Amino acid sequence: MDKIIVIRYGEIMLKGDNKRFFEDKLVKHIRHAVSDLGKLKIYKKDSRIYIDVEDYSEKQIIDRVKKVFGVALISVAKRFPMDFDVIKQVALESLREQISLHQYKTFKVDSKRVDKKFPLTSPEISKEIGGYLLENQEGIKVDVHNPEVTIYVEVRDEAFVFADKIHGLGGLPIGTNGKALLLLSGGIDSPVAGWMVGKRGVEVEAVHFHSYPFTSERAKEKVMDLAKIISVYVGKFKLYSVNLLPIQQEINEKCPEEEMTILSRRFMMRIAEAIAEKKGFNALITGESIGQVASQTVESLHVTNSAVSMPVFRPLIAMDKVDIIEIAKKVGTFETSILPFEDCCTVFLPKRPITKPRLEKILKSEEGLEAQRLIDEALENMEIEEITL
Ligand code: ATP
Ligand code: MG
Repeated sequence: MDKIIVIRYGEIMLKGDNKRFFEDKLVKHIRHAVSDLGKLKIYKKDSRIYIDVEDYSEKQIIDRVKKVFGVALISVAKRFPMDFDVIKQVALESLREQISLHQYKTFKVDSKRVDKKFPLTSPEISKEIGGYLLENQEGIKVDVHNPEVTIYVEVRDEAFVFADKIHGLGGLPIGTNGKALLLLSGGIDSPVAGWMVGKRGVEVEAVHFHSYPFTSERAKEKVMDLAKIISVYVGKFKLYSVNLLPIQQEINEKCPEEEMTILSRRFMMRIAEAIAEKKGFNALITGESIGQVASQTVESLHVTNSAVSMPVFRPLIAMDKVDIIEIAKKVGTFETSILPFEDCCTVFLPKRPITKPRLEKILKSEEGLEAQRLIDEALENMEIEEITL
């Protein structure tokens, strides 16, 4: 009896005529995720993706597949030559295994007849096997609407039986929804924001602003480490590093002290937009969340947003910090994010940053700066790093 991993996808099922495009992307990403484990047989059939386990470690395969956006459920199935009596036996073993692990009291059988030559219909198969399980296992009842465990049976030229299911991340495969540029700081929020947008199938690249030599090499390495963790999910991407120091120095000289943060934020947005435009990307991503700090009051968000015309995705906008932290832990960025290194925003941190900036006043302050020249120079000195695992 062979073991085979069965992968089911959620939202892709709703894609109608485009389904094939989404499926092919998903297969490609799954293939890539397990490519270093060996030459695994991976194939798509009847709206599911299968991986033959053969002599490979099923745990290793599952650990990889669990991180691929678009995967909803993963199960390990037994595969054997079609024989209805054997199906019943294996179904009973699977049910018993699940009961001993989880003390389940209710179940149902879900059948799929792919081989239409088989004389029983799918509901008939379920009924027949369900009856057999009830006869042979005590202390268990059928609950078709809300069962604790489902025994899946697939009848094709071979038979497949599986019961367990592991939840994947859901979402959509990377590369099915355009491209966006993430403003990646060394904090907790922005890596989560990039991951969330990536989970919707968007290809993500990132820009980081530093104030070298006021910020250290280690601070930059921390951002690289965060970028590497994100690349586990979104694939390899480019990280653009921009030195904001000359701009901060100019603001420091020519503008009111309390406007430092908000003015820097507007420059970051404009530089990010220029990079995104050049690359043909259609959106920016930030980790902003209402009220988190002075630069994220609704008034500040308005002023920051007004610096650019490209859509800005802010997936964390209405989330509490505790919930963001929970996702950061799940993604694996939290431990790196909390390492204590200085950020470019802390270099010229005003004593009392303005919390209710007015756009007209900020625009007035900017008139004293040669914004376009500063942006062009920052872009000229930009460094580009290829991020892969
Ligand atoms: P984070 O935890 O993501 O650092 P934060 O709570 O520190 O966020 P801010 O410093 O106000 O918040 O930054 C808001 C957003 O602006 C960040 O989520 C990020 O998208 C972007 N940002 C801030 N600093 C930088 C930076 N040095 N480089 C790139 N993007 C930045
Ligand atoms: Mg920050």
